[in-house]
Amino acid sequence: MARIFHDEDAPADALAGKTIAVIGYGNQGRSWALNLRDSGLDVRVGTVADTSRAQAAADVFPAHEIADAVTDADVVCLLIPDEVMGDAVASSVAQSLKPGAAVVFASGYAVAFDEVKLPDTNDVVMVAPRMIGVGVRDSYVDGSGFIAFVGVDRDASGNAWPVALGVARALGALHRGSVEMTFKQEALIDLFVEQAIAPGLRKLWSDAAMVLLEAGIPLEAVLAEFYLSGEIERTYRAMREIGPTKQWKLHSQTSQYGTMSRAKRYADADLVTQMRAAVDDINSGAFAREWAGVRADGYKKMKELYEAEGRDALMDFEDEVRQKFEPSS
Ligand code: NDP
Repeated sequence: MARIFHDEDAPADALAGKTIAVIGYGNQGRSWALNLRDSGLDVRVGTVADTSRAQAAADVFPAHEIADAVTDADVVCLLIPDEVMGDAVASSVAQSLKPGAAVVFASGYAVAFDEVKLPDTNDVVMVAPRMIGVGVRDSYVDGSGFIAFVGVDRDASGNAWPVALGVARALGALHRGSVEMTFKQEALIDLFVEQAIAPGLRKLWSDAAMVLLEAGIPLEAVLAEFYLSGEIERTYRAMREIGPTKQWKLHSQTSQYGTMSRAKRYADADLVTQMRAAVDDINSGAFAREWAGVRADGYKKMKELYEAEGRDALMDFEDEVRQKFEPSS
């Protein structure tokens, strides 16, 4: 069983007297900075000089160049996109880090796939929210908290775990519970959802739409049923709140019987082979190498993919149908 940490597992004084640098002020950065400050910590922000910096200053944070924010900080939270992490760390972070400072990542990717090089004298820890940035802030403010994956890749100071848990607690990530994971495990599960589950769902919904349209169901009804109504979203919420099977009770007996009696309809479809291939592709570093190559090539393949995959037949009608379901004023 994995270790799950709660508020009481973080030593109360883990971050006492420490200065926290939040690098990047985007989706996660802004929420982290606000939560950490509201938890009583001394927070400064480091960004390149632009709208992010202006936003941090408007939120009344000391806002600096990245290297200046890192200098003398005890804890450095790197909240910039994973794809720029290697270059940003090499150019503005690594040489400014004070020995013994802890570097905190919100994702395992850059460390798991060797895209960053940090001095041996620094702790390397992870607090990876299972939550979008705005949710990190909202769930702190309303007190509900969020789940995260936490881990330590390098404990140079001997104090890396208390610091990791101190940051997680101050963020609101230990209120519900955070699961111990390695950076590699976090990267795997994150990428697996994106690369093995999302394409499967896309295929499922796209095939289902085609079959329903063939069966004479109007497109408006298909889109309403699949997502515009929000019914499936509510079902997912119920799965979270009471469990995937217990939520069956919220549906009619006809629905329950239909789902249970036809539960094995796709039992023969071989998803496992493809999913294992996805795990190998990620764990071997093949995906990370490919993605690094795409970036180095000026995102050419990314643009081609937007052209090829970014639209499907349904999307051509989607905006029009969506407007038809706007509430009348
Ligand atoms: P964002 O894209 O929101 O980060 C934006 C910030 O990074 C801005 O301050 C931006 O500055 C700065 N930035 C962009 N490029 C560079 C660069 N080359 N050098 C320096 N600063 C740069 O990132 P997220 O908040 O989405 O992600 C941050 C981390 O959090 C990642 O590790 C991600 O995997 C992780 N994470 C994200 C989640 C999410 O829901 N978004 C969920 C869980 C984890 P500027 O304004 O100048 O562009």
